[in-house]
Amino acid sequence: MPSPAPSPEASATQRIADSITTAIVERRLMPGTKLAEQKIADVFKVSRTLVRQALNQLSRDKLITLEAARGARVAEPSIEEARQVFEARNLLEAAMIKRAATELRPAQIAELRAHLRAEIQAVKNSDVPGRTRLLADFHVVIARMLGNKVLAGMLGDLVSRCSLIALMYQSAHSAEHSFDEHVAIVDALEKRDARAAVRLMQAHLHNVERNLQLDPRTPDLESALLPFGALPLEAATRRLAPRGASPRNPAPRSATPRALAR
Ligand SMILES: [Zn+2]
Repeated sequence: MPSPAPSPEASATQRIADSITTAIVERRLMPGTKLAEQKIADVFKVSRTLVRQALNQLSRDKLITLEAARGARVAEPSIEEARQVFEARNLLEAAMIKRAATELRPAQIAELRAHLRAEIQAVKNSDVPGRTRLLADFHVVIARMLGNKVLAGMLGDLVSRCSLIALMYQSAHSAEHSFDEHVAIVDALEKRDARAAVRLMQAHLHNVERNLQLDPRTPDLESALLPFGALPLEAATRRLAPRGASPRNPAPRSATPRALAR
């Protein structure tokens, strides 16, 4: 993706794109909401050209759909589509993680630990787009480490279809849970325990799918975008309370900073 030289126009475009992304993430803009160019231009006091650039960027990220007849709308990934994507991921990733347990080198395990440190940072900072991207990338990074570009490409596509849904429907609690499960998976890889790694990965994908929830609220473009500038983005989602062990999360000790620093 070519990145334009920094300019006032580019930063205005980015600000609009970020605001709409955050509104989607915070569920103030629900799937299917029409994104009228003129209304957005009025809210941000910019030209429609800049708004169109922001919408094009969001369309490339698959967060919105652009159709000549209907204009721009927040994308509507269906839960049924999500179910099918998770089924495909389950088949693919069980085989992938089994290979990873025997083939990953110590340096690659260390890379995964570094990725986990970035994940927990984003989770703690309530950086919703960041944590969504990093939690998804974890799976693609493992595929890439196996050196199979076809597998990595397929998984990247499947994971990004899940990401849009996770971005919209994943809670802070569920994101933190995903992080703990990633740590347990890397622990199993480090021990070269293929059976545990497969079991943990399948349980993880099952949990992520189960924790996504639809929230049927009424969309309203103007009221969703107007609060920008005044509203702290993380206020609604901040949640740093520690959590204890559960039967599904058998390795909470791994989530300590000390264990991560290995
Ligand atoms: Zn995951």
